[in-house]
Amino acid sequence: MPAPILTIKPDAITRNWQALNAISGDAETAVAVKADAYGCGVGPVAAALNDAGCQTFFVATLDEAVTLHTELPDVRIFILNGVSGEECQIARNLHLRPCLNAPHQIADWGTGGGGPCALQIDTGMSRLGCEPHDIRAFEQASDLLTALGGVELVMSHLACADDADAAHNAAQREAFETLTADLSAVLPPFKRSLAATGGTLLGADYHYDLVRCGIGIYGGAPFSDAEAVVTLTSPIIQIREIAEDTPVGYGETWRAERRSRIATLPLGYADGLHRALSNACTVYIDGKPAPIAGRVSMDLLTIDVTDHPDATVETQVEIIGPNQSIDTLATAAGTIGYEILTSLGSRYERRYKSAS
Ligand SMILES: *Cc1c(COP(=O)(O)O)cnc(C)c1O
Repeated sequence: MPAPILTIKPDAITRNWQALNAISGDAETAVAVKADAYGCGVGPVAAALNDAGCQTFFVATLDEAVTLHTELPDVRIFILNGVSGEECQIARNLHLRPCLNAPHQIADWGTGGGGPCALQIDTGMSRLGCEPHDIRAFEQASDLLTALGGVELVMSHLACADDADAAHNAAQREAFETLTADLSAVLPPFKRSLAATGGTLLGADYHYDLVRCGIGIYGGAPFSDAEAVVTLTSPIIQIREIAEDTPVGYGETWRAERRSRIATLPLGYADGLHRALSNACTVYIDGKPAPIAGRVSMDLLTIDVTDHPDATVETQVEIIGPNQSIDTLATAAGTIGYEILTSLGSRYERRYKSAS
């Protein structure tokens, strides 16, 4: 049966990296490839970026790091969520670098002999990273940090970087300056990193030695100059004519206001088309809109093609593409581009192809 196709353009990913690398100036531009490279496929994505010159990658978990290491054994891989206990030995053996986020992670890493790692500090997000009182404790007992051997990077994460007007950005930056200065007293020289995509766009004050870009690489806001990376198209698998006042879909939430043509597509919320898109979004046929009619179901979607007399079974429908970005789709679903990308389902046929 004809099936939806998810097309991912490695060339566009490379060009987005080059654009952010130009913006970040002298800072190294590392890339976040956690969650299977934001749903785009970590193998092909990391390979394309590495060919373009990217040497440093961030993942969330040890498992993700091991997967990436298998694909690209020579790149530098940081594990954002850190490691603890027995995971330390696995990470150390593969030269994977944990971001140490709390005193217990630091102690575990040091116990086995330490090695190259990052230290994450929390500067105002209250999510992950050592807190100012932890850092004061390190100053009292500096042997804890010395035992690590190789803190290459001290990093923190901004809570509001997608909003250039948020005063919280400057407040976090100041806290980062202060805490990294304190750490300089107890650590050998290290590099500093504060910015993800949003922070990179805030300007040179936020770049420090390394930026960690994710969403902008994959074509999403807040990097408004990004090139689109993902296209999602689906064939129509059935078309029916319905009389005025006929309901469509679960719960009869859509009702024909005129004699209508309804087309059914073989994808649904199990494929990442959030149920919140029910009656709330448009897809495109030959560049012209066709509204979603009724609820999105698990594996199917119904659209109103009354104004598309040429639509037939197998007509290709654009769900993400030139007429609808991941961000417009996200807005219709009440979410963000990040969640659209990371929800893209495993059932799609994925094609990697040059943007040309
Ligand atoms: C996910 C993540 C990034 C990348 O963020 P984007 O907003 O996608 O650029 C950078 N740093 C940390 C700590 C992250 O969790």
